[in-house]
Amino acid sequence: MTNCIFCKIIAGDIPSVKVYEDEHVYAFMDIMPLSKGHTLLIPKTHRAYIYDLAPDEAAHLFSVAPKIALALKETFGLEGMNLLNNNGAKAGQSVHHFHLHFIPRYDQTDGFG
Ligand code: 5GP
Ligand code: ZN
Repeated sequence: MTNCIFCKIIAGDIPSVKVYEDEHVYAFMDIMPLSKGHTLLIPKTHRAYIYDLAPDEAAHLFSVAPKIALALKETFGLEGMNLLNNNGAKAGQSVHHFHLHFIPRYDQTDGFG
């Protein structure tokens, strides 16, 4: 999709910090992280909402999620993690290309939520 910022990231037209990539999905650091290591996982094919993912696309994307979560845990030494999808504008979705947020949580004393 030509006007989609995440499609541009996949195409390499907008730079991003890669966390994971395979044939079907791409994970990268959020540009405005809610905490250290905030990562987004997206399908490489443009799918705006959860309803638009075919079962095999969803299955693959979610099968990769534990691998990414473990890599973040080992890299950042986080205490916990929120996995989140904002689905639709009313739910707070601002980029209309499906994405799963990985938001690491730390001990409150380190300055990050
Ligand atoms: P949403 O609000 O749609 O659930 O989340 C969109 C996320 O995409 C936000 O956390 C925002 O910071 C992130 N984001 C928006 N534009 C860019 C960009 O150009 N690069 C990266 N890496 N993240 C982006
Ligand atoms: Zn897109």
